[in-house]
Formats: sequence, structure tokens, C-alpha cells
Amino acid sequence: PARTRFAPSPTGFLHLGSLRTALFNYLLARRTGGQFLLRIEDTDQKRTVPGAEARLLEDLRWAGLEWDEGPEVGGPHGSYRQSERSSLYRTHAHDLLQSGHAYRCFCTPERLRTLAEHRHGLGLATDYDRTCANIPREESDDRAHRGEKHVIRLLASTTYPAYQDIVYGAFKPLKPRLQGDNSFEDPILLKSDGLPTYHLANVVDDHHMQITHVIRGSEWMPSTPKHIAMYDAFGWAPPQFAHVGLLVDEHGNKLSKRNFDTDIQAFKDMEIFPETLTNFAALLGWSHQGRSDVMDLNKLVEKFTLKFTKGNTTVTFGKLQFLQRKHAAVRALAGGEGRQDMVQNVLSLLQDPEGPYQDWQSHISGSPSTFVEQIIQSDGENYTNANEFVHRNSFMFKRLRQTPNSIHDKDIAFRVKALGDTKSWSREELMQKVREIIDDRPEGRKGSKDVYHYLRSALTDREDGMRIYDVMMILGRKETLARLGIEES
Ligand code: GLU
Repeated sequence: PARTRFAPSPTGFLHLGSLRTALFNYLLARRTGGQFLLRIEDTDQKRTVPGAEARLLEDLRWAGLEWDEGPEVGGPHGSYRQSERSSLYRTHAHDLLQSGHAYRCFCTPERLRTLAEHRHGLGLATDYDRTCANIPREESDDRAHRGEKHVIRLLASTTYPAYQDIVYGAFKPLKPRLQGDNSFEDPILLKSDGLPTYHLANVVDDHHMQITHVIRGSEWMPSTPKHIAMYDAFGWAPPQFAHVGLLVDEHGNKLSKRNFDTDIQAFKDMEIFPETLTNFAALLGWSHQGRSDVMDLNKLVEKFTLKFTKGNTTVTFGKLQFLQRKHAAVRALAGGEGRQDMVQNVLSLLQDPEGPYQDWQSHISGSPSTFVEQIIQSDGENYTNANEFVHRNSFMFKRLRQTPNSIHDKDIAFRVKALGDTKSWSREELMQKVREIIDDRPEGRKGSKDVYHYLRSALTDREDGMRIYDVMMILGRKETLARLGIEES
């Protein structure tokens, strides 16, 4: 069983890319019968956005990604908020000082800046020159006790250890430095304010929380060798890493606000269902062997494997609309709560006092919600939200003007009057009657096309849409005959 985590920084809201990261971790945990943890990485308090954490929790729950350990849920390895774990990180940084894997660095920001500029001018890497690594321990302790400002750095080896990435395979350690290049990428562990860097907190927590797999965006790949070096220094076994590609638009540009790399709220506003969004996110860089792309969360869990595509992933929003229609159809056919929600959304649009459907209830018999529900059932595959649904099926909610089209064919207009003789208004009887109308037409004008076209334009004023027998059944006898201009017999 895998223990995975989603470790957002509350510097913003959940967006498509981070939802995808959370989802992959969730799926792996569920697939293997393990645990999915939520950890808030709020060590950089300056960048913390008020309210962001609450929204993250809300959006994850909306998407169905419940966590087994984390904020509000608790668990044996808490706190799950890094700002409440500072002393743990301090202790561990000092352990590395003791074991000689780390050292205090007293260099001022000014010195570091000058050093970097100088090295940059020489065309060298701009890392640290390790001056402070040579300060004897007693002197270092002494200066620290007297309160001199310092950070704690990892004493990294000149080449970082290699590791095996689940997506990218053997990840090569950094190239050895040029001869005479005495700079070292000694990552800072503890900042001068005594708080940990992202790197230290991330490694310490993944170890203590017994994380087995880390699935995260490829923007973290350059950090991973540092993390492995830290695991080595602590003498801990690192988790396995899988880095998934960046999301880009059709032109290969990183997703921006304009093309949907925005707050999950934007998808909620479009009335995208949670199961549509998790389906959509899952297909971004994960390659599955299933027959269909349409999968709800349970299906994703069932199918999940650690097979990801390398490189960036192109996001196409046509796919989102496609999936939304499929999931709308699933909901419409499944009935239950999902369908009731839709009925309610549609009804509230229809009842909008400013809207165009003022007297829509006057021509229906039976309850409004049953009426709407029947249409949803019939047209389940064809819409993505309530607004679009009402628009597509507007002919069901308002009387039509007689269209020129519908009175065009005198012969058909005459013959369809036979529909007024139906007794039961059952689908079977209507089909039978229409069959007879078609058969009775004069030689040379037989064929069902014209008759159906006539019925469709008279009843719906549209070229496509719901099956015509569904329209007749849902509108009912009175309204259907009225639209066909047939007097009741
Ligand atoms: N706090 C980091 C983030 O915001 C976590 C990266 C990781 O998963 O290790 O993305």
C-alpha cells in the first residue's frame, strides 16, 4: 500500500495543474489500499494568502479527493501544517550540524550577492564558495550563541546522488564542476529566522509521515537531487518520485489565466461536474489502457497505474466539453441525486422573472419537475450545463409560432390530422399512426423523411434535438395537437 500526499502551499487557490497532482496521488493511494495525506506547506508565511487554505480544502472535497490524514481530519503524524512543526525542523537541522553533514553560514546577503555577480562575470555557476564550511566548530557555536545572524547549509557532495524517477528513469546527477570551480550547491536548510526552507521541511515531513511515493510536477525535478542528498545525509531511505509534465496550451505555452489554468472556481461557475473535472485532469499525462476515456472517480481508482507520458501535456478544452456531455448523460440516466440537482438548476432558470419563459407551465400537464426530468432523460447526451440545456430545448418551454415550414406541405398537413384520432396517446399507437400516414401518401411522395421533417418543424422548430416521439409523449396530447393545428376530435 502506498502512502502519498498532496502538499500545497497556501499561496493561491487550487488550479487545474495542482488538482491533477493531488488526483494522481489520491488515485495511487486508493488503488493500492494505502493512505492519502494532505499537508499544508506554509513555511513561507509572507506568501501565504488569507483564506487560501480553507478554499483548498473545500475544492479538494468538492472534487471528491478526501484525505485520510491532514487538516481537520487529524492523524498520527500531525500537525499537518508546517508552520506548526518548526521545532522539528530545527532539531533535524541541528542533528546534521552534529553529524558534520551541515554547517552554519554567516555570510551576509551583500557578500553572497557580490560573490554571485563576480562568478557570473567569469561565466561560472553562481553557487556558494563554501567559505563558512571551514569555520571551526567551537567558533561557529560561539558566534551562534552570541546571536550572530546565520543560516544552516547542507554540506553536499560535489556530485549529487543519482535516483530512479518513475517517469524519467535514471536521473543523472549534476555534471562535475569545471576544474578550479570551487562553488558548491549547498542548499540552505534553516533560514536566518530559524524557519526551515521548503527543501528541509519537505524532506523531514515526507520521512516522518512515511510517504512512499511522491508524484509532483516536473518543475520540482531540479530540487529532487538536493532532496536525495538530504535523505542520504540523514541516513533515511527516500520515497519514490514520479515527476509529471507541465500543462501547456495548443501553442505549447504554459497554461495561463486566459486558458484555464485558473482557480477551480471557474469550472464550478461553468457548472462542470466534479466527476468531469477529475476525469479531465486524470487524462492529462496519464496513459491508460481502458476502452473508454469516460471514467468517474471510482473507475479511475480501479484503472490507475503509474504510467505517465514524458514531457509537457497539451490541454484541449474540447475534451472537457465532451466529457461533460458524457457525464451529464450518465447522471441523466442514473437518476437519483445527480439528476435532481439538474432538475433544480433548470427549474430555477425557467422561473427567472427576467427570463423568456414566463408562462411555460401553462401548456404542460403534470408536475413541472417531472416535465423537466423527462426532457433531461431524453436529451441527456447533448448538453453540458443547465443553461445550455434550457436553450437547446427552449421549444419545450414556450409555444411556437406556426412556422412557414410547418404549413408548407398541404398533403402532409392534411394527413397528420389522423393523430387526433388516437385513443391512448401511447408511443406504440403514435408510431403506428405515423407509419399509416407515410404509407397513405400518394405514389412518388412516399418515404418517411418529409413527414418527420414536418412533425419536427411544427413541434420543435428545430432541425435536430430530442427524438420526435419523446417530444410528443412529453408535451402530451393536447399541446402536440395544438402545435400541429389539429382540432381535438
Ligand atoms: N509545496 C510544494 C508545492 O506547492 C510541494 C512540492 C512537492 O510536492 O514536493 O507545490
